[in-house]
Amino acid sequence: MRRQSVKKREKYTRVYELARELGLSSRRMIEELRSYGVNVKNHMSTLDPEMVQLVIAEYSEQHPGDLKDETEDETDVLFQKTEALEIEEGITVGQLAKMLEVKPTDLIKRLMNLGIIASINQVLNYEALENISEHFGFKPLRKPTLEDVLLKDEPDDPSELAPRATVVTIMGHVDHGKTSLLDAIRNTNVMDTEAGGITQHIGAYQVELENGRVIFLDTPGHEAFTAMRARGAEVTDVVVLVVAADDGVMPQTVEAINHAKAAGVSILVAINKIDRPDANPETTKRQLAELGLVPEEWGGQNIFVEISAKNGTGLDDLLELLLLESDLLELKANPNRLARGTVIEAKLDKGRGPVATVLVQNGTLRVGDAFIAGLYYGKVRAMINDKGENVKEAGPSTPVEVLGFTGVPEAGDKFYALEKEKDAQAISDLRLAKYREEHLNPQSRISLEELYKQIREGNIKELNLILKSDVQGSLEAIGESLINLNTREVKLNLIHKAVGNITETDVLLASASNAIIIGFNVRPTASVSKKAALEGIEIRTYDVIYNVIADVRAAMEGLLEPEIREVVLGRAEVRELFRVPRMGVIAGSFVSRGRIVRDQFLRVLRGNREISSGKVDSLRRFKDNVDEVPSGYECGIGMEGFDDFQIDDILECYTHEKVTRRLF
Ligand code: GDP
Repeated sequence: MRRQSVKKREKYTRVYELARELGLSSRRMIEELRSYGVNVKNHMSTLDPEMVQLVIAEYSEQHPGDLKDETEDETDVLFQKTEALEIEEGITVGQLAKMLEVKPTDLIKRLMNLGIIASINQVLNYEALENISEHFGFKPLRKPTLEDVLLKDEPDDPSELAPRATVVTIMGHVDHGKTSLLDAIRNTNVMDTEAGGITQHIGAYQVELENGRVIFLDTPGHEAFTAMRARGAEVTDVVVLVVAADDGVMPQTVEAINHAKAAGVSILVAINKIDRPDANPETTKRQLAELGLVPEEWGGQNIFVEISAKNGTGLDDLLELLLLESDLLELKANPNRLARGTVIEAKLDKGRGPVATVLVQNGTLRVGDAFIAGLYYGKVRAMINDKGENVKEAGPSTPVEVLGFTGVPEAGDKFYALEKEKDAQAISDLRLAKYREEHLNPQSRISLEELYKQIREGNIKELNLILKSDVQGSLEAIGESLINLNTREVKLNLIHKAVGNITETDVLLASASNAIIIGFNVRPTASVSKKAALEGIEIRTYDVIYNVIADVRAAMEGLLEPEIREVVLGRAEVRELFRVPRMGVIAGSFVSRGRIVRDQFLRVLRGNREISSGKVDSLRRFKDNVDEVPSGYECGIGMEGFDDFQIDDILECYTHEKVTRRLF
């Protein structure tokens, strides 16, 4: 008896056989099985061998006295012997048992105690192994994936490292001159050098100076910066914070500082528009100092430059300082290895197919190199620099447009050159498979309608929103009104609000945080709509502020379950019973209070106990069908599906009223 758990089972076992083995009555065995959630019909029901092992394990656990087995002590000793054993995920329970030198059934039993129901052939993933490793005294190992092996970041030999150019993002409040600054630098430093050349907008450009280069990411603003960062892409070395001297610190200035600090990126302050008569650089500096950005001349750590993007004043100083940052930050990279970088921008070009601007961050990318970026792989067919020239190679801190992708990657995707195209393809295949698994079920996302259901199921108590608007004023106004809708029951999070069109980045963010996008006076482009549909993201657009608020409020109220209230309409006493052919028993009653209404609900009370309830399906005064009978009258009442009236029963007529619960 005590070696039950060890006996090898190949055949199906009937309940009564197992009962006998365990010394139980069949009835008790059935009860026991049901208490484990095993539904058996009767003592002749069969159990498969695995189930039998599990049942025995469970039974011996719950009734140690009844079924004392020596294996327990034995396995404990064994488990203690297995310390320092390294076990890789993907191992089956059977293999693990072998490695731990225990019997599979004992292991299954132990796993069960740890809340893991596993059969002998079950593959244990890393999480499962980690959960049980302490108990069994082994070290779980994650199986390296193809990516782990091929994309591993091998440290560079310090002797191969060479200085690389600073990569700059320009941030600041709207209208403070970010675009003007980017254009001014580009026009004076890029176009002029290219006689007749057309400057290409590839998402980044490089400025070549006497002593080196500076790279500017071409999309100003936090949106691009943060979206990239949210995707794990760290491309920026320095943030140039543009603050207009006539306007001073504004909300997005603060936001930009916070973003830069969060990213651990150094900040160089450019006080812009100093040409303006109402410019007040000193006040602006003071405001910035209050935010922790103190100019060196005041004993602080931060570099400030006063500029005019309009007149070109101070731009050379700015560039010189950015050049120096490379030394200060000791920015280095190894040009002699396969390239690694980040996708800055990507699009589907009509003539050229998928193209992406890649910022090479380490190594050198060459035409002909195989690569993987995000979901897609390819072989570099051609590279074009920011001056529109074809180039054969691109070293560290160089932005280039790359042709040869099999699909359009996303901004922020990491780019890796690989030795073999077939490896790149293999990684792409794996990533695509995983992506499909995660994304092809748009129901996993959320729409306003879906929210109601989810809240009821207790899944969501929060409504995440992304707000995009055409101008700052309405953005602030709507944002504030929305935040005021917050209640204890439904929390509203405005996870992102910005001026501008609804972009793919918004969809991405919405997808990452299960949010709904609201556009005010801005609409998504067809490609953004398509992406949103693919990701199952809801985009709602409005042109009246009131409607935004009303809709969101209605949605949130919809999230509150309506209250169903019962309203008693009247009462009647049963005085006589009639049996009517085809209609069953009719209660001849006297309406004592209120009224009895046909098609409403009826409750039969006998001595204060509710006997039944249902619908009034026939209501008659004398021979006539009526819709309702008021108090003081007699009538015949028939009830749907109920014939069992007795004299003196009280019939209570009631209705259901749905009361919408309101937030305010
Ligand atoms: P962004 O929203 O931060 O990209 O700002 P823009 O570059 O679009 O500039 C906003 C406005 O400020 C435009 O009308 C520019 O012409 C103006 N502007 C930008 N820089 C300067 C400057 O240095 N001096 C003056 N007077 N105006 C500027």
